Amino acid sequence: MPTHSEILARLSALREADAPTHGGHVLSYVYDSGLAELDELAAQAMRLVQPVNGLDPTTFTSVAVMEREVIGFARHLLGGDDDVVGSVTTGGTESCLLAVKTARDTYAGSAPPRLLAPVTVHAAFQKAAHYFGLVLDLVPVRSDGTVAAADLVARMGPDVALVVVSAPSYPQAALDPVAEVAAAALARGIACHVDACIGGWVLPFWSDLPAWDLRVPGVTSLSADLHKFGYAPKGASVLLQRGRDRQRAQYFATTRWPGYPVVNSTMLGSKSAAPLAAAWAITQALGVDGLRALAESCERSTLALRGVIKTIPGLRVVGAPVGPLLAVATDDSLLPEQRVDPHHWADQVRTHGFLLQLQPGLTQGDGTHLPHTTHLTITPVTEGVLPALTEALQAAADEVRGVPQLDIQPLLGGLPPLGGPLDSDTAFALLQGLGVGGAEGALPDRMAPLLALMEALPAPVAERLLTELLARIVEPM
Ligand SMILES: *Cc1c(COP(=O)(O)O)cnc(C)c1O
Repeated sequence: MPTHSEILARLSALREADAPTHGGHVLSYVYDSGLAELDELAAQAMRLVQPVNGLDPTTFTSVAVMEREVIGFARHLLGGDDDVVGSVTTGGTESCLLAVKTARDTYAGSAPPRLLAPVTVHAAFQKAAHYFGLVLDLVPVRSDGTVAAADLVARMGPDVALVVVSAPSYPQAALDPVAEVAAAALARGIACHVDACIGGWVLPFWSDLPAWDLRVPGVTSLSADLHKFGYAPKGASVLLQRGRDRQRAQYFATTRWPGYPVVNSTMLGSKSAAPLAAAWAITQALGVDGLRALAESCERSTLALRGVIKTIPGLRVVGAPVGPLLAVATDDSLLPEQRVDPHHWADQVRTHGFLLQLQPGLTQGDGTHLPHTTHLTITPVTEGVLPALTEALQAAADEVRGVPQLDIQPLLGGLPPLGGPLDSDTAFALLQGLGVGGAEGALPDRMAPLLALMEALPAPVAERLLTELLARIVEPM
């Protein structure tokens, strides 16, 4: 048996291979406040509740107090009145799932319930429709990622159980027309969710925004992730719902088994209280003023980066992003040799020490195409690395300017005909034939080829191959 210190040494060594979670070199996934004392506070809070079971706030009453206080704080910040109640969930996906489950269980129609949203809505809503049996109705957006309110309103029928708008959307940081959509939904008795998972804790402090939160009449629920711009460790989000009666449909309760009565506000049963404790401690420590100061730093850096990208020939910022995130596309008003492919750029930026996130292009339901982009999420620590990041973004663009997006048609031509479901061995063989998912499931250094491949393959095939890739990674060797 290894000693405890050997076990921890091994974990430390494994962590060395991770992308850096602090310091601003990873512009997605991680939300670093830059305040080391906050991380330490969160760690101590998590330690204090380590053995607690968050399943039962009547047995572990600290859980109830912390959750109540976090919900109170969120409700105040996000414009909710006394009629707004809520839950702390394990993350944005769970908040979104529960918003959809609530809408489905309060839906009074007889036709199969429909979930209506712009195509830019987070994939968590595709998952929710899949899990909970709703018909997914995704409305095309304009090339800048914004949706016309009228396009959503035109599709509001009696079978719509929920319409979802984002504040902002993840792919292009578009602030959806919350007021117009919520008003139309209210007039038709349709529930309206604002997905503020990424914006919820930062947009309250952003300059010059129209109303987008619970102040807007007709908004019936709102999600805001504590583990994004609430700077909490992963595992915490808030789902606020307008009206106790609506929110009670979020719960699952049963006395129809021979065990303890089950009453769950969220998806899980037994659960850690650690993320709640950490998020609670951080909201207490930061307060509204602390969050504001961090948001202001994000806004300054976002403006600066938009300015930087504007000066890089061949690239452009998509649309008019709202909040501390943006998407970068190629500037196709230029000649091909002057363009910068955003995915080659992202791969090249990585060699300069910064990790950006590649996003695929998408052909929408109406046949229009959204270009492939590269995503940047800006956090408070971005400000400290702005000069180095600027240099990396510029140098990488110079290094790949004129290199066209990969043509993977030759690769595709080599594939056997793909009909019907793929079994695991065939999927793995295909991956290897395509040069990904090597012996140890190692991921390639360059992501552009993988993204180009996924964009070109039929979605079910791409989804199956990615499933195989990820599943193989955790198989015992
Ligand atoms: C991150 C995000 C989600 C999903 O949240 P997870 O915490 O990753 O589960 C949903 N919606 C938006 C807009 C997001 O940015």
